Amino acid sequence: AVLADQIAAGEVIERPASVVKELVENAIDAGSHEIDILVEDAGLKSIQIIDDGCGIEGDELALAFRRHATSKIDDRKDLFRVHSLGFRGEALPSIASIADVKLTSSTGGEGQTIHITGGKLIDQKPAEARRGTDILVKDLFYNVPARLKYLKSMNTELSKIVDIVNRLAFGHPDIQISLSHNGRELVRTAGRGDLQQVIGSIYGMNKAAKMIPIEGKDADFAVSGFVSLPELTRASRSYVSILLNGRYIKNFQLTKAIIEGYGSKLMVGRYPLAVINLDMDPLLVDVNVHPTKQEVRISKEDQLGELITSAIREQLARQNL
Ligand code: ADP
Ligand code: MG
Repeated sequence: AVLADQIAAGEVIERPASVVKELVENAIDAGSHEIDILVEDAGLKSIQIIDDGCGIEGDELALAFRRHATSKIDDRKDLFRVHSLGFRGEALPSIASIADVKLTSSTGGEGQTIHITGGKLIDQKPAEARRGTDILVKDLFYNVPARLKYLKSMNTELSKIVDIVNRLAFGHPDIQISLSHNGRELVRTAGRGDLQQVIGSIYGMNKAAKMIPIEGKDADFAVSGFVSLPELTRASRSYVSILLNGRYIKNFQLTKAIIEGYGSKLMVGRYPLAVINLDMDPLLVDVNVHPTKQEVRISKEDQLGELITSAIREQLARQNL
């Protein structure tokens, strides 16, 4: 079973940022209002996620680390329909097969701690805990040297973690999310449900102040979010975030549609800052079957692109730009 978990880990857990993504998604699924992420040495030394969600019952702790024992969703096509982010029931077993994991959880009463290293149960015992879950992942990839070798520099790995946390925060303005690295706080959102405020805490308040709300709707799609004034642009596409039913996606055509909304106001090769929410019937989403792929295809993508373009164009016109 440990070998199967390690093989699954190879698919799901590419790098420290993948661990952060899976664990924060679990915390979100647990209904948390507050999630703290503490990382050391870009996640290679340790990754700790503390949440105030529903917690796990003591007698279900070991089960949570068994593959497919708990999958919240059976069909990958359900990914964009069901509210829950988890869908495979393999994140915890995968991570525990390639690291040292201590998970403490309580559903309100007395808590329990389970300790697993390289997929082997070390022990499980009662522990002081408030309601919620505290998971500590140490020595990631200690038994997968090939994976360690493939990792990029600390700075690159850390920036991938920051990127993931930013996107999770954009998708969940109602959750207070913090990220610190080697004791230094890098991200903290207020959790008050205000997307512009989340953008402010991530990109800086003066940038958020230069972003304007957009809105558009047709029979199939609803578009909302914030885009920057043409004076605030970047040479990189990485400041464009598109969230489909709360989930971060990559989509080249829709990114182009955003740029098109600016027309000649945007210099060639420049990108705006943008956080765009798309709401649609999940039946219109063609989910890629690979477990970690963020690229998705959407039916009627041209129609959606036009809706985005005109929502931005109209809002800029309204601002006399
Ligand atoms: P999945 O999220 O696909 O169900 P995971 O391996 O990520 O699979 O998690 C296994 C199970 O452990 C979850 O279904 C959930 O019941 C439980 N779990 C994991 N993390 C948390 C958490 N932070 N709070 C509450 N329950 C959790
Ligand atoms: Mg999960």
